[in-house]
Amino acid sequence: MLLKRRRNTQDENVVDLNSRLQESENRESAYDTVIRTLLVLVKDFAIDIAELKTDRFYASMDTFSEKFFAQKKSKRILPHFEKQKPVISSFIDQQKKYLDEREAELRNIIDLLTRAMVSVDSENDAYHQKILRQSEKMEQITRLDDIRKIKAALEIEVATLRETVRNKQVGEQARIQSLSGQVKSLRQELEMAKEESQRDGLTGIYNRRAFDDHLQSLMERNLLHRQDFAILILDIDDFKAVNDTYGHPVGDRVLLAMAETFGQMVRSDDFLARYGGEEFVIVLPGASRRNAAKKGKLICKTVHKTRFTFDPDDRQAPLSLTVSIGATAYKKGDTAASVLARADQALYKAKQAGKNGVMTS
Ligand code: GH3
Ligand code: MG
Ligand code: MG
Repeated sequence: MLLKRRRNTQDENVVDLNSRLQESENRESAYDTVIRTLLVLVKDFAIDIAELKTDRFYASMDTFSEKFFAQKKSKRILPHFEKQKPVISSFIDQQKKYLDEREAELRNIIDLLTRAMVSVDSENDAYHQKILRQSEKMEQITRLDDIRKIKAALEIEVATLRETVRNKQVGEQARIQSLSGQVKSLRQELEMAKEESQRDGLTGIYNRRAFDDHLQSLMERNLLHRQDFAILILDIDDFKAVNDTYGHPVGDRVLLAMAETFGQMVRSDDFLARYGGEEFVIVLPGASRRNAAKKGKLICKTVHKTRFTFDPDDRQAPLSLTVSIGATAYKKGDTAASVLARADQALYKAKQAGKNGVMTS
């Protein structure tokens, strides 16, 4: 009886021991899994950056893992871990320091951007306001304490800023285009006004002012290197009688027809102008006094044989007109006034000689 009870007790102990052994094995396997996972996670947590020498940290963790799991004697496990502990904690400290430094740099950059944006000067009020609002947002970003939030917020703000600047550029381009268009049309208007101010209102040929300018510039050019030229002064004979007989409007049409006749007889580099009333002038570049007199004679002849018709119904006989011409050429030491005075003198002589002719002086 006693023997049977002892055997029973022994059996119970064996079962208990077996179950405790099993439990211990399960526990070891679970620890193994947890530790392996933790070691992988520690490696994963490490940021792979050359400056932190993460490669070396990975290698030391791998060596530790190998030794740890290969170690059969439990008493050696702790010394291994004690050796690895400062390596892990020093890496974590380094990494934290590195991230803190980057974060501080990022804040500095934002600060710099903010100040740069505030200092952006612009005459455009709306643009200025937009930039100011943007810089306020930037300031708010510096108050975020998570580097990821800072990055995300910064990305949005930079995109908005880029858009604002782009819009401003587009606006400015349009403004520049419209301004240059205005400048162009103003320049054209100015050219037209200048051209108009040089033209005679009745005949469309150059006026006295344009002639005076032209003569003056010829004189100035002659100071540098001599360039001969001649002048003809043409005066319609007995023009007062045309006005008196046929009226002022017909007189005007005679002036216009005369300007056309002269215009057809001059070269492209000659300068024809209405000098005043029924007087015209022609500058002949490169011409001598003789050349000018010849040209004057040809004009006299042409005008004389031209029949000026002003009545579309042919009720009025065509007019026959003549011109008197004074011719002179540039002489060394001349001024604009002296050349003109000489030409006028020649014209006076032509009138005195009976009109419809050329005289030189
Ligand atoms: P001469 O042969 O001596 O040159 O005599 P003229 O009648 O041509 O000269 P005068 O100086 O006596 O008269 C010039 C006339 O020209 C007087 C003026 O009324 C006229 N006249 C001046 N300008 C114009 C104009 O623009 N239109 C018209 N229709 N007549 C004009
Ligand atoms: Mg006259
Ligand atoms: Mg006259």
